[in-house]
Amino acid sequence: MRKAILLAEKAQAKGEIPVGAVLVHEDKLIAEGWNQPISDHDPCAHAEIIALRAGGQYLQNYRLLNTTLYVTLEPCIMCAGAMIHARISRLVYGACDQKTGAAGSIIDVFNHPDMNHRILVLGGILSDECSAMLSRFFKQRRAEKKLGNKVPRC
Ligand SMILES: [Zn+2]
Repeated sequence: MRKAILLAEKAQAKGEIPVGAVLVHEDKLIAEGWNQPISDHDPCAHAEIIALRAGGQYLQNYRLLNTTLYVTLEPCIMCAGAMIHARISRLVYGACDQKTGAAGSIIDVFNHPDMNHRILVLGGILSDECSAMLSRFFKQRRAEKKLGNKVPRC
């Protein structure tokens, strides 16, 4: 999770919402990702998707069996769906996301009774650090926006 936090900082440095993810296969870190939908002009470029894609390339398989995905923020519906398709074994996330969280905050995709694959989900790991990073980011962005509004337009 510490590595995922460092990757989230990388996203933040590029003006992206700070979310980072790493994929571990049998105790070996095989892939990483950080949020980059704005810079990539790609609505699907969430940290988890980037890490899953890189993991698939590393394993040369679209099924990512025996892997654990660590991510700093509770995944959204899209990422939760991708994890189920990828057949990861375990998800470990940091902060809860009360706006788009699909691991129980707004919906629980992983525990849907008809889902064809089960993922062991563990949330709240280093959640204080993960949510503080997000809070700082949004606070700074609001301040910049406020300041931007006071700048006279040409
Ligand atoms: Zn997502």
